[in-house]
Amino acid sequence: MIPAPFSYVAPTSVDEALAALAEHGDDAKILAGGQSLLPVLRMRLNAPEWVIDLGRIDSLRGVRDAGDHLVIGAMTTHHDVLHDPLVAEHAALITAAATDLADAQVRHRGTFGGSLAHADPAGDLGAPVLALGASFVIAGPSGTRTVPGTEFFVDLFETAIGDDEILTEVHVPKHTGWGAHYEKFVRVAHQWPIVAVAAAVRVEGGTIEHARIGLTNMGSTPLRATAVEEALTGQPLTADAVRAAAQHAADGANPPSDLNGDASYRSHLACVLTARAVLAAGGADG
Ligand SMILES: Cc1cc2nc3c(=O)[nH]c(=O)nc-3n(C[C@H](O)[C@H](O)[C@H](O)COP(=O)(O)OP(=O)(O)OC[C@H]3O[C@@H](n4cnc5c(N)ncnc54)[C@H](O)[C@@H]3O)c2cc1C
Repeated sequence: MIPAPFSYVAPTSVDEALAALAEHGDDAKILAGGQSLLPVLRMRLNAPEWVIDLGRIDSLRGVRDAGDHLVIGAMTTHHDVLHDPLVAEHAALITAAATDLADAQVRHRGTFGGSLAHADPAGDLGAPVLALGASFVIAGPSGTRTVPGTEFFVDLFETAIGDDEILTEVHVPKHTGWGAHYEKFVRVAHQWPIVAVAAAVRVEGGTIEHARIGLTNMGSTPLRATAVEEALTGQPLTADAVRAAAQHAADGANPPSDLNGDASYRSHLACVLTARAVLAAGGADG
């Protein structure tokens, strides 16, 4: 289907984009890579009068080193994140998740910030950024604010970004030297996960010293699996110990039931995939 007619503006700065948002209010929609928005417009599930394209704002693109954390611009494409050496070195969990995110075509258009702002609970980037303790920089009419990951994801397709605000960058604390793995369970290739687990571990002398685990599609938002993180800490990196700790993976989760699997199947998957992800992240055989 063809989208309903809309007016289009492509500002070249965040201030201009905010001014356009302020002017057109509820009648406007931000466009990033368009990989989620355009299908919605084509199905006429949304019909904004104005589309504000962030594609010409160069300051929103790229990855930079900011000391103890990386700054990832909201308009950095999945492809650029996937191939960025800073991300690979200091936030390998994000590289791992981006590897299996959609297909090459979508990765060339879709953006890091667009994906997180869209907040699909099956999206592949929420769990890794949450697990790594990322924070979100949001620009609005009264300036810029920084929101922790724990407050960014509010509900299904809902974030802390206000109607008059724009996500500009994501700050990801460095996890240099940590092992990382994203274990994604799909029915067919290039799909959103039925369940996925993002695991980053720091292993010293065969013992798991720190673990950070994020869950995809186990609730209305990405989740941090704190119970399993605690259960893993101090355990030897062996299949038996990791599988026992991973039994806590679904604690506190509220997974959906749909044609791909019911809630109890997803809970089972979360435990199995967590064990696999942790063992792979630590470099051990499953
Ligand atoms: C065939 C196909 C397969 C896919 N498979 C996967 C997959 O396996 N895993 C996965 O995670 N994703 C998948 N995706 C989605 C993909 O990751 C998209 O890139 C992502 O969902 C949206 O990013 P975008 O840059 O295209 O944003 P858009 O589609 O342009 O925008 C999405 C929403 O976010 C808002 N928005 C965008 N940027 C900002 C901003 N900076 N500030 C405030 N609001 C903003 C928009 O207004 C819109 O509501 C797939 C998409 C397609 C088409």
